[in-house]
Amino acid sequence: MKKMGLTTRIMIGLILGIVFGLILSPFAKNPFVKDVVIDSFLTFFGGMFINLMKVMIVPLVSISLAMGAASIGDIKKLKRIGTKVLGFYFATTAIAVAIGLFVAKVSGIGMGMVHGELPKGEFKIAEQGKLIDILLDMIPKNIINAMSEEKMLAIIVFFLLLGVAISALGDKVKNVKALLEEANELVLKMVELIMEVAPIGVFALISKVVASTGVDVLVKLLGFVAATLFAFVIHTGVYQIMLATMAKVSPLRFFKKFFNVISVAFSTSSSNATIPVNIETLTEKFGISEEISSFTIPLGATVNMDGTAIMQGVAAVFIANLYNIHLGPTQYLGIILTAVLASVGTAGVPGAGMLMLSLVLKQAGLPLEGIGVVIGVDRIIDMFRTAVNITGDAVCTMVVARSENEITDPQKFYN
Ligand code: ASP
Repeated sequence: MKKMGLTTRIMIGLILGIVFGLILSPFAKNPFVKDVVIDSFLTFFGGMFINLMKVMIVPLVSISLAMGAASIGDIKKLKRIGTKVLGFYFATTAIAVAIGLFVAKVSGIGMGMVHGELPKGEFKIAEQGKLIDILLDMIPKNIINAMSEEKMLAIIVFFLLLGVAISALGDKVKNVKALLEEANELVLKMVELIMEVAPIGVFALISKVVASTGVDVLVKLLGFVAATLFAFVIHTGVYQIMLATMAKVSPLRFFKKFFNVISVAFSTSSSNATIPVNIETLTEKFGISEEISSFTIPLGATVNMDGTAIMQGVAAVFIANLYNIHLGPTQYLGIILTAVLASVGTAGVPGAGMLMLSLVLKQAGLPLEGIGVVIGVDRIIDMFRTAVNITGDAVCTMVVARSENEITDPQKFYN
């Protein structure tokens, strides 16, 4: 087993997990299968992996971000990189919603489905705060609270400030800087060690989702699932073009090296939980300077959600068709705008994008009950959209790293 590469072991875990889930699925209501296999065994091993990943998020993001900013030193440069990255993030997300809307519109999904036969999910419309409150919540007011609740943007702002202060003080705080650098080595090593249990974690998480979603719900909503996945594929094509033209990297090689990160995103359905392995991979396997990746990845995991935006676009059109509501050009524009904002406000945790869908529907005047219909397949779509979300973060990082000459090891980057 040891001789096999980690990527291969994770892939085996993924495939076996899907197969095992499919075998379990018809018996998912049987007390033994449900209580012992799914709710105890699979829940424990899946939860163990997620916890181990999550425990690294705050230490890794805070330490590496402060260290990164401390070594960039130059505020002007930080601003320039920040503007570039955010520009890419917003542009790709807007493209993503547009692709989602286009695919959904052309395929006509949801038309002619009879309301009475619709699967009803257990969905209670969540009290959704105003978008401004959600965005304001991202600015830190208490760092301990932000760290304990994993408010990523708040953490980013605070530790960026710390890094800038370290670099402004220069030699006066050189010991603090050295300490951060060593601590950073340590947390990266810890992530690497934790990844050893990834194959088991991935196996347990995937089989649980497959076993408990059930094939029948999937079949009923096949059109919606297929259109969403198809839009994901098209958007991945956009990433490939960006990689080939702007980063000058072969997309094929990129995805081969990036597979570990995708499988963690896929099985945890959480951009946040994927931050540690994403930073580690970009640094170790792609030779990108850590100053860049430790800044762009946590930021991307928080604000850049292309997969989520696609899902929200497709779902809006699907629900409109389902309830026979005509959408005009103004509504389409409105959906693009709100979906971009809603995806920015979506937290990098499982299922968050579905909650934020209510903002998009409300704005477009569509019935919120529609969420009850699509939520039945959300666990499956969440895995794919999270994978798209974090791939987008990495692709933008590659592009910006190249344009900023922040590649520490060109051998690793281009090959
Ligand atoms: N699970 C997604 C993520 O972490 C967010 C969502 O639900 O759309 O990226």
